[in-house]
Amino acid sequence: MMDSSWLVFTDLDGTLIDHYSYQADAALIAVRALQARQVSIVFNTSKTVDECESLATRLAIAAPFIVENGSAIYLPKYRHSRPAALEIVQRDSASHPRRAIVENTGRYWCIQLGASHTEITAALSELTPHFQFKPLSQSSLEDICELTGLSMSQATRARKRQFSEPLIWQDSQPALDRFRLALSARGLTLLKGGRFYHVLGQTDKGIALEYFKQMHEREHRGKKVTTVALGDSYNDIDMLGAADIPVWIRSPAHDVPTAKHLTTSRVSQLTGPAGWHESIFALIAEQSANHPNAPSTEK
Ligand SMILES: [Mg+2]
Repeated sequence: MMDSSWLVFTDLDGTLIDHYSYQADAALIAVRALQARQVSIVFNTSKTVDECESLATRLAIAAPFIVENGSAIYLPKYRHSRPAALEIVQRDSASHPRRAIVENTGRYWCIQLGASHTEITAALSELTPHFQFKPLSQSSLEDICELTGLSMSQATRARKRQFSEPLIWQDSQPALDRFRLALSARGLTLLKGGRFYHVLGQTDKGIALEYFKQMHEREHRGKKVTTVALGDSYNDIDMLGAADIPVWIRSPAHDVPTAKHLTTSRVSQLTGPAGWHESIFALIAEQSANHPNAPSTEK
């Protein structure tokens, strides 16, 4: 049975919202079906907090949000007291254990898991003489609109990066490999998204999902949750890998990513928000078939 002991983490572009039109209409009935079951929907996206807020308002989905590819979690203060700064799980066992940084940003508690934009900008300016690339935050709004199909106000929100920098890569593949190593030496990582490469701290959407789950279970006195993750692209592999139930949403723009450790993932037939709708209702149907007499709320 699906209820408040479930958390649904979702990518946005190409998953909850259409890759081209940025519309979510086809997924809205499924969104409401989850809300009716008290299941929290948590955006887990490369987008900024401003973009998440704007979309969440439009779709009537409440925060929290995971922004900029796992770089930070935004918890609404009206629903959460100040969270403890927990240890962040590291992919690389050689890295030093780190704790999250918790900050009060007005309406939200911001839990920073990755690097700040200032650290990223400093590293990129060191690398500028050696590689050909264009950071999104240094592109004109007109260029961003042209590249992404976003409106001017959407592009303004997209350019306000706090923890990551999307790049237009204009150099060769061998140069990209050297660039990745140079970033790694500076404590940063490079991730391929649907449209851009993203430079960010030592985090990813999967690390953020694990952190969120741990925090949620602490807040609910150890009550176990079941996590679902839906995504369409390479930057979703870690998120799907960290979830109990990984779901690929088919893309109209590229193949379903191949990830060896995700052989049991479900793959939607339909693309984007229609695939989201299809996948959520398939899960709800399975859960009711498994628990035909389950009570509608947790005891
Ligand atoms: Mg996507």
